[in-house]
Amino acid sequence: MDDKTDILKGMNFFIQTFGCQMNENDSERIAGLLVAAGAKKADSLEDSGVIIVNTCAVRAKSEEKLYSFLGRLRSLKKTNGAIIGIAGCIGQLYRAELFAKKPFLDFICGPDHYQELPEILSRCLGEKVVSASWSRRWKETPPRSILHTSPVSAYVTIMEGCDHFCAYCVVPFARGREKFRPLRNILAEIQDLTEQGYKEIQLLGQNVNSYRDPETGLSFSGLLRQIEGTQGVEWIRFITSHPQNLTPDIALAMHQSKTICHQLHLPLQSGASSVLGRMNRGYTRQDYLEKVGLLRRLMPEISLSTDIIVGFPGETEKEFEETRTALEEVRFANIFSFRYSPRPRTSAAKLTDDIPFEVKKRRLIEIQELQKRIQSEIHKAFVGQTMKVLCLGKSKKGGLAYSGRNEGYQVVNFNSGQDFSGRFVRVLITSWGPYSLRGESQGPV
Ligand code: SAH
Ligand code: SF4
Repeated sequence: MDDKTDILKGMNFFIQTFGCQMNENDSERIAGLLVAAGAKKADSLEDSGVIIVNTCAVRAKSEEKLYSFLGRLRSLKKTNGAIIGIAGCIGQLYRAELFAKKPFLDFICGPDHYQELPEILSRCLGEKVVSASWSRRWKETPPRSILHTSPVSAYVTIMEGCDHFCAYCVVPFARGREKFRPLRNILAEIQDLTEQGYKEIQLLGQNVNSYRDPETGLSFSGLLRQIEGTQGVEWIRFITSHPQNLTPDIALAMHQSKTICHQLHLPLQSGASSVLGRMNRGYTRQDYLEKVGLLRRLMPEISLSTDIIVGFPGETEKEFEETRTALEEVRFANIFSFRYSPRPRTSAAKLTDDIPFEVKKRRLIEIQELQKRIQSEIHKAFVGQTMKVLCLGKSKKGGLAYSGRNEGYQVVNFNSGQDFSGRFVRVLITSWGPYSLRGESQGPV
């Protein structure tokens, strides 16, 4: 560390994270880098000398949430003069334009530049700094310099960016083209995490199943098989998978593995092939249902979740109805559903956003109500079963003592005479709600 970054020694910093697991993992990385440079994590915004907002650009709503948060920071800047900067996708997308919108900002740092943050912070005392160019080269962060939020479950990034260019999606512009992390670095990080006692590893990337080892060309299914051989890993999950890149070999690797959870997040977006075509998703309803069929033949109990967009330009009632029937047919364990919003630089932004807000809102409520019924039915069928749960700690709600997740990634709240935080526990399911299961601990696994 050179003298310039000495200003970080003893300085308090606060990171506010918006968006997906990738951003959460990036914030863990940023925190680790700043701590290594001598800074300290603050408990609140108010007592921080440096505030970094890690941003999400994926939907208009994410951007609106950010601007209202920045309103708060503007007043804070007046009172305590903190250095305030933007990291993440909004920073990458708008770069210096953000200074015109929000003049109180001191720096912009794109996702490819986090390692420069100590230096950026030292420079921005005298000038406004933008570091958001894009490179196709993988930049490795030493694993031990990531400050993991959870002591039980760790994120491990394996790739970044996306080459799919779905018509509605800003990610290829905010995160750039696909680039892959070398396999040996991924395996070394996982080995290190399991030695530290982590029980669950979640592999991350915008499109994990397009993974290719840049050094050997090994595919994603090959990577899964290699991780399977790592001593001490108990549960492996990965997010997000693109249906087009879900090969039979990936399904087979999941089926044959003892540690890869039989759980998959597989964004469908729409149940109508015509809409999928306009979205440039690269598969039809039939293709998607066939892949689900293959997964379920190999793993009958697999827990599937998905993303749905309602109100994409031109979506008719009949097309929307096909999304409803797809949900009935697949019976997902969970869905994340969104109203379409046009995003800068995407091809859909050139189309008229012709579905009125009220119609989008009604469609969203309709599928959320439908999913609530399906989830309730799925949860009800679990009553009386005993399942393995990774206890993540004390429960925040529901009046039950502890909270965890089962292999299917469903939330399980349970009572227990003993604190099993960070351990696997057997839970007898005694009741349910649409969004969680409830039960009693039967002791350690
Ligand atoms: N890489 C992942 C997800 C990326 S973004 C994938 O391929 O599925 C997360 C989710 O946000 C998407 O799956 C989509 O459902 C939603 N989303 C993305 N752009 C959107 C937009 N313009 N309007 C509404 N929802 C959007
Ligand atoms: Fe966006 Fe499509 Fe890439 Fe997912 S696959 S990140 S939705 S462009």
